[in-house]
Amino acid sequence: MSILQADKISFSYNGAWVLRDVTFEIQTGDFVGLIGPNGSGKTTLLKLIDDILQPLEGTIRIHGTPVRQMKREALAKIVAVVPQESPMIFPFMVQEVVLMGRAPHLGKWRFEGEKDFAIVRRAMEMTDTLALSGRNMNRLSGGERQRVLIARALAQEPQLMLLDEPTAFLDIRHQVEFFNLIKTLNMNQSLTVMAVTHDINLASLYCDRIILLKEGRIRVTGRPAEVITEDHIQAVYETPVTVDQHPVTGLPRVTPKRENLSETGSR
Ligand code: ADP
Repeated sequence: MSILQADKISFSYNGAWVLRDVTFEIQTGDFVGLIGPNGSGKTTLLKLIDDILQPLEGTIRIHGTPVRQMKREALAKIVAVVPQESPMIFPFMVQEVVLMGRAPHLGKWRFEGEKDFAIVRRAMEMTDTLALSGRNMNRLSGGERQRVLIARALAQEPQLMLLDEPTAFLDIRHQVEFFNLIKTLNMNQSLTVMAVTHDINLASLYCDRIILLKEGRIRVTGRPAEVITEDHIQAVYETPVTVDQHPVTGLPRVTPKRENLSETGSR
């Protein structure tokens, strides 16, 4: 069953096309990677799905309804976004931030009930953030802050999670923990995931399907083995790479080619 359909999406901020004729579909329970070079339109596409921006042409539908016609709260019950890690000022306590995830579910009087607190607690357990409860967001490390933002998104109880370079600032352990958590939710709770990532090898490891963008157009979409080929990656990233099969997972693995650096001068 399809949860998201993007039909011939085009978008421009001020004249030049940033996305052009983008068409794809995501099925419930999919784990989709969105990859492409800097400036290829990935973040813009996530913002269009979340109705922060509106396409100039084309339609994005969630469960068949155009997002443009959905009320903000109705959309937020289905779609949660984990934004790029940014060192922004966030003068809130951790628990307050996670509770914000409940906002679309609160009744008329906007009070959180026992059920909301139980969901928040569960989201914090899953992300290992309970111990951070009373801490100020500003005083957390990048990785801790990222986990809190994931907890907030989980507290939203979404069907579709949009992740924008969620692991860009995380060390390898936290990267893997993060992707393992998301993959577990994906497999056990049918959480549909669309993740922007710069790490093609992580995308290969975790995604069922990958969409590869080049200059605002989809170059190719398919299983990792169909998308992560020398031909596609070199054409899109304009850099020489080797793609082989990972010896353990059998999945495609990308290695940049190091140029033959001539030794000039001494250090
Ligand atoms: P990516 O996420 O793939 O790096 P973005 O969607 O952030 O790409 O950006 C796509 C293009 O749109 C880039 O050329 C970028 O400079 C431009 N862009 C992004 N945000 C804005 C904005 N708020 N105003 C004008 N141009 C923007």
